Amino acid sequence: MNNKHCHNIIIVGGGTAGWMTANLMAKQWQHQLANHEISITLIESPEIGVIGVGEGSTPQLKTFFDQLGIAENEWMPACNATYKNGILFNDWTHRPGFTRYFHPFTSIIDAHTAPAFIYNSQFKRQGYNVDSHPDRFFLAATLAKQQKAPIGNDNFPFDVSYGYHFDAVLLGKYLANIAQQQGVQHIAAKVIDVTLDNQGEITELHLDNQQQLAGDLFVDCTGFASILLQKALKVPFISFKENLFNDRAVTLATEYQPGDKINSQTIATAMKYGWAWDIPLTNRTGNGYVYSSEYCTPEQAEQELRAKLGLVDSTIPANHLTMKVGKVEQHWHKNCVAIGLSQGFIEPLEATALHFVQESIEGFINAYDAIYFTNNPIADNITDNIKAQHRQQFNNDLDARFEGIRDYIVAHYRFSDRSDTDYWRRNNANPNISNNLKKIVQCWLQGKDFNKALMQPDVVSFYPPVSWHAILAGYGIFPDKNHTLAENPQATKYDLAHIDQFIARSASNFSDHKLFLEQRANSK
Ligand SMILES: Cc1cc2nc3c(=O)[nH]c(=O)nc-3n(C[C@H](O)[C@H](O)[C@H](O)COP(=O)(O)OP(=O)(O)OC[C@H]3O[C@@H](n4cnc5c(N)ncnc54)[C@H](O)[C@@H]3O)c2cc1C
Repeated sequence: MNNKHCHNIIIVGGGTAGWMTANLMAKQWQHQLANHEISITLIESPEIGVIGVGEGSTPQLKTFFDQLGIAENEWMPACNATYKNGILFNDWTHRPGFTRYFHPFTSIIDAHTAPAFIYNSQFKRQGYNVDSHPDRFFLAATLAKQQKAPIGNDNFPFDVSYGYHFDAVLLGKYLANIAQQQGVQHIAAKVIDVTLDNQGEITELHLDNQQQLAGDLFVDCTGFASILLQKALKVPFISFKENLFNDRAVTLATEYQPGDKINSQTIATAMKYGWAWDIPLTNRTGNGYVYSSEYCTPEQAEQELRAKLGLVDSTIPANHLTMKVGKVEQHWHKNCVAIGLSQGFIEPLEATALHFVQESIEGFINAYDAIYFTNNPIADNITDNIKAQHRQQFNNDLDARFEGIRDYIVAHYRFSDRSDTDYWRRNNANPNISNNLKKIVQCWLQGKDFNKALMQPDVVSFYPPVSWHAILAGYGIFPDKNHTLAENPQATKYDLAHIDQFIARSASNFSDHKLFLEQRANSK
């Protein structure tokens, strides 16, 4: 492959991953597209369809739309989208005072209050009796509790960080339109066969409409099926089932009742064999239960979810899904890169999948650009060795991220004290946790400077220290002290009433979430 002929990029799969890839590539390579130096084609099978779940994001999604130059008042109403201040974890532990906590998206304004949280947690870890539950210390927790949108009025001088909730199917359609306007070609057909050359590179796809499509680069966005990377190129899949037991989900949507407000948080409630989500959109709430098929049947899970929602006798249909949790051995192999569920999936507890999709595409574009496009006078001479180095670096970076996210998700199960079912008892006792996670928790329990410990070169912490603080303090994981500590004025250095006032004053600059969304939609 060289950069003299038109460079054909073929994306297979039209789920969120496929269309996000198409859009970011079309944006990055808009000049090459306009000059016919590259072409981008997306093939999707209407017969197979998309997974249709994945309705919560991290703040990263904002940067995706910013890069594409698409305003919130354009895309949000089109996708029934709402704002998300963070995630409320409900019932994950039964430790007194710690049955729920909020994992906030943090912002610059937290610089006024988060240091007190970090400080108090450290003293609490040493055994002093100070308040270190996270919720009190973050504006996002208060905005979520008051069902407010995370965008302050004109008098409020700080931007607050937030994610979104959206209808996954509508988002896919919206992104499909934008990508096609940018010059991405679309083929509705099923790939039924793949031809490899004698180097093991993909040369051609055979479609069920008799078309054959040759390409230079193939992007596998075919979801769990992964027909290119895993099936055609036989890249092995590494399962995380020893650490993460959930492998199924059941979903159903519920309508709002008149007068209902709209939450500005995801609620993740622990259940007998997993956990259930509650994701508010403008027109409905998405509900789902992620569980382990080793411990309950789909019928039991559906019943438990219906009981939680008060819908035991309702005819609202439920949708059952199977999940493959783990990652591929290599995300980019030969002339194929997998993006989305085809490269792996860590269950949706922290809604990280699209964040990961975005980072994978951006990392890939940078590497590919450096090899083939960006003002690269030596592109024709770039050696296979250098290409292999770029590929290796990309694969290593993604592996580290996958493992980092996995550790954070595993912590939710491993450090819960629920013991009501075999599912939770096995989670509590699970010896299969990474050395990295062991180190993180040991540092926490030692009561030393945890921020510093997370910066050590031998500790991988994909999540920022404040998130680790939030989960461990939010779960009430503190060393048992069987002696009474003397009063220590240092431990009570922060005036918490002052923090409460600061947060209350700040929150008064934000409006009701539902009202805000309605005004936004009308101001279009
Ligand atoms: C229960 C659950 C909850 C989730 N919640 C979240 C969340 O809150 N936040 C989040 O970020 N992510 C979440 N995810 C992940 C999220 O759904 C996915 O990352 C996202 O939808 C992207 O999926 P995808 O595009 O990789 O795959 P899919 O949506 O499955 O798309 C696959 C595409 O490939 C096409 N295809 C397959 N085979 C062929 C073929 N032979 N020929 C042609 N086309 C083919 C299909 O037609 C389809 O267009 C969740 C996932 C699950 C399972």
